Order: sequence, then C-alpha cells, then structure tokens
Amino acid sequence: MILINGKETAAQIRKEIQAEVAGFIDNKDIAPHLAAILVGDDPASDTYVSHKEKDCKAVGITSSVYRLGSNATEKDLLDTVDFINSDKDVHGLIVQLPLPDHIDVDRIIAHINPAKDVDGFHPLNVGKMALGYPTYLPATPYGIMELLKRYKIETAGKHCVVIGRSNIVGTPMSILLSRKANPGNATVTMCHSRTENLKEIAASADILIAAIGKPEFVTADMVKKGAVVIDVGIHQIPSNNTKTGFRLIGDVKFDEVSKKASAITPVPGGVGPMTRVALLLNTLAAFKHTRGLI
Ligand code: NAD
Repeated sequence: MILINGKETAAQIRKEIQAEVAGFIDNKDIAPHLAAILVGDDPASDTYVSHKEKDCKAVGITSSVYRLGSNATEKDLLDTVDFINSDKDVHGLIVQLPLPDHIDVDRIIAHINPAKDVDGFHPLNVGKMALGYPTYLPATPYGIMELLKRYKIETAGKHCVVIGRSNIVGTPMSILLSRKANPGNATVTMCHSRTENLKEIAASADILIAAIGKPEFVTADMVKKGAVVIDVGIHQIPSNNTKTGFRLIGDVKFDEVSKKASAITPVPGGVGPMTRVALLLNTLAAFKHTRGLI
C-alpha cells in the first residue's frame, strides 16, 4: 500500500514556487501578491486566512488581509473587492468563505476580477475549467490532480467515483477527471446525498474520492481491493492522546480502508497541505499572467 504523502509533495511544490519567486525578485521585479478579504470574526476563517498568510511568506509571496467587521454591508464588501481589483500590484484576490448571511456570496464572487480569482470560483473560470481552457482551478481539486500526477496514478479509462457534489470540491473534481487530459480521461460517477446504491457504486471504483463531510463515512466494504482512495474530509474529534485535546480524521475509515487500498491519502497530511499549496500555485500563475509569461 502506498501512502500518498500530501505533506511531502506540498513541501516539494513550495520549494519550486519559492525558487521561481526568488528568480523574479533577482530580476528586479516585485513579488507576486495575494490579497485576502475576511469578513466577521469566525475563528475557523481567521485560522484559514492566517495559514494563507504564513504559506505566502514561506515562499516569498507578498500577502495582505483586508478585515471587515461582521456588520459590514454587501456594498462595503463590493467596494473592497473593487479597490483590490483595480490595484495593479495585487495579482490574486480571495474572499474567505463563508460570508455572513446578509451578504450574497454569488454576487461577491461574480464581482472579483476573473484574472485575479485565484480561488477559481468565478463563473467565468468555472466555465473555462469545464471546457478545459487554461484557468485557475479550485484549490482542493487542483491539489488532488497534482497528487495523482506526481504519484503517477493512472486515471485514463479508470472508473472514478466522487462522493460529494459541492461547488468547491466534488463537482470540479468530477469535471477535471472526466476531461480529455492527463490526469483525466476517466469514466466518472458523481454520487451525492440522493444517490441510490452508493455502497455498490463506491465499491466499483478504481479511484474513490471522498468529499462528503461525514467522519469515517467510507468503510472497507465500500472499497474495491486495490482501489486508490483520496480522502478530502477533515474533522476534529476529541482525543486524550494529543496536547491540543483533539485529533483530525477524514471521511474515510483509514484503519480498515488502508488494508484494502493500493494507495490512500492520510488525514492529516494528505489533501489538506495540497489544497494550501494549490492557492500559491494559482497566485504565481496570476502573477506570471500579468507578465505575459503564460
Ligand atoms: P459540502 O458539505 O459542501 O458537500 C458535501 C457533499 O456530500 C454534498 O454534495 C452532499 O450531497 C454529499 N453528501 C452528504 N451526505 C451524503 C450521503 N449520506 N451520501 C452521499 N453523499 C452525501 O462539503 P465540501 O465543502 O465539499 O467538503 C467535504 C469535506 O471535505 C468536509 O469534511 C470539509 O471539511 C472537507 N474539505 C477539506 C478540504 C481539504 O483541504 N482537505 C477542502 C475542502 C473541504
């Protein structure tokens, strides 16, 4: 069984990004710049944004965070997006989700300059992805595609089952795997909360991608012997054996599924670090785009 090490792969990619960024600075250019907008005081969002700042710093990408209070209006947020859209020294812009209920998230995303939309959520970029045009891919599917590529996992002609149809993970994942590309060229089944016979479908997968958001949902009886299993889920559960008092588990029951799989991503250390590094790849791409390099 191969343990697909996202932590190590992401570290390797960070080195590659760092070297490229250093090259731009050596050539007297500015560093790529990622701006994040954070609305409200959700602790999880705050943590995600500080991870993004830390990740940028580690590779030499400049980052800035625009913080708006929880009672900021939709107009306040649109104005902030406008301001960053027109700042030519900022190459990538993300709005940390979720947003407070009184703000229309679709309206905000559609307002981001698609050339700076390094989360890949703008409808124009989603359309480009679906058509196979070069664009920013959403971070989690992008990270998974990189893992499949770097671990040389054959996807062509394989049956890939994606469980979950969210706009940020399941849906783009199923599109990317079915595209005429490498990785890609797979026969894809996308399962969701209304799928019948989920167990049988999952058990027919050569590559199973679990993005359900339910702790240890995928059990050994849902997995074909020799399948490749990618676990997207992240859940904190209480633990007496860690300093923090909790540990992380995924959507897959790792202990039993890893005995049947030919390769599997662990949680933590699998998809999570790849999601983080994918945002850096997109920011670098946004910068290179402004320089006419891609
Ligand atoms: P989501 O809640 O938006 O989507 C979950 C999907 O699972 C839905 O499409 C739903 O139809 C499907 N689903 C729910 N119950 C089901 C059932 N019983 N049978 C079949 N399908 C079912 O979640 P998401 O944003 O796609 O995230 C999924 C998981 O991945 C979460 O645990 C989230 O925390 C995690 N996540 C991890 C990363 C990472 O970097 N590792 C990134 C994004 C999300």
